[in-house]
Amino acid sequence: MRSFEPVSPNADVRCPVCHAACHTPVRTIYTVERAALHYCPPWRDRDRHQQFLDCIGKMWPEGVVRIRVCDSCGFSFGDPFLGGNEEFYRILHGQMGYPPWRWDYDVALAHPLVKTLNNGRALDIGAGSGNFLEKLGSGWEKHSVESSEVTRGVLAKKGIPAHASLDDPELLKLRGTFDLITMFQVLEHVAEFYPLLDNVRKLLKPGGILFITVPDGDAMVEQERITGCPDVPPNHINRWSPESLALALEKTGLRATAPTYEPPAWSKVSQHLYLTVIADAASPTSLAAQIYRIRQKSIRAPLLRIAGAIAAFRLVKYGSRLRNGGAFALAATATPEGKPGAISTQ
Ligand SMILES: [Zn+2]
Repeated sequence: MRSFEPVSPNADVRCPVCHAACHTPVRTIYTVERAALHYCPPWRDRDRHQQFLDCIGKMWPEGVVRIRVCDSCGFSFGDPFLGGNEEFYRILHGQMGYPPWRWDYDVALAHPLVKTLNNGRALDIGAGSGNFLEKLGSGWEKHSVESSEVTRGVLAKKGIPAHASLDDPELLKLRGTFDLITMFQVLEHVAEFYPLLDNVRKLLKPGGILFITVPDGDAMVEQERITGCPDVPPNHINRWSPESLALALEKTGLRATAPTYEPPAWSKVSQHLYLTVIADAASPTSLAAQIYRIRQKSIRAPLLRIAGAIAAFRLVKYGSRLRNGGAFALAATATPEGKPGAISTQ
C-alpha cells in the first residue's frame, strides 16, 4: 500500500451516499501500476497484467485513485467513483470462480419470512451460478439477475430465469410482486447504487424483504493492515458501514433492521493467509512471486499452500482476530412513505 502525506480535501467531491462535501484529507492513494500489480503481477501472467494496466488506466485519467472518507456519514469510496466495468470483470473472472456457500446465505435462509413462506417469489441480484437460489425451497418461484452471459447460461440450465439487468422488460413486468430480493456482496462494486436500490424497491411487494450483505468498511481497513494486501478499486469502490448503508436505503424509501455481522470462522484464517501471499506476490523477489512464475498449476498450487503456511508465522501475533468475519447483513422493507423519486441528489 502506498501512503502519501495527507493532501488537501477537495470540496468539489461529494459523498455518493449523503452528498456532503468531503473535508477529510485523503490518506490512501493507489496508482494504476499498483492496482495492476495487485490484481495480477507480470510474473504471474504478463498479458493479463497488461490488460489490467490498460483497463484501469482508462478508468483513472489522473493515473491514481484516492480513497476518500465522508466525515458526515462515514461512507468511504474510491475517487474517481467508478466501479469495475465489463472489461475489468472479464479480465478478473478469468482467474476467479464463484464461492459454493457462504455465511450470508445461511442468515438469509434463517430470516423469519424465508422460513415461514415457502411459495413466494424471489430474486437474487448478482446470482452467480445460483447457489443460493438452489437452496430456497422448491415452492419458491426463482428469478436471477446476472451480468455474465456465460453464467446466465448456467442458471438457465438449472431452470432459473436469468436476466442481464434490472431493466429487463420481462423483469419489469413483475414490479411490486417480489417477496424476497437478495444482493449478496454486490453493493460494494456498484457506483450507481441509488438507481439500483430504487429499482429494487419498485420490484418488492408491500411487506417484501430486501436482504443485503456487503464487506464492512472497518473490517476492510483491518484486513489491509493485517495482510498488507490493499483492497484496491475498481473491484470494491464502496466501503460501507451499517449506518451509511441504512442511510442509502432510507433515502430510497427502504427501512433497514439492525445489522447482523459475519461470525468468526476458521476459513477466515486461510483467507488472511491467502491475502498475505497475494500481497507478497507484488514484490518480484518474494517467494510468492517465484512460485507464481511456475506455469504448471499442479506444482504451483501446493507450493502456494506452503507459502501460506510460512506466512502464518508472521500473522500468529494477531491471534483470534484472524478468525473475524469481514462483512455484515441488513434486511430492509419498503417504508409506507417510500415512493419513486424519494432520492435526493443534492
Ligand atoms: Zn456521506
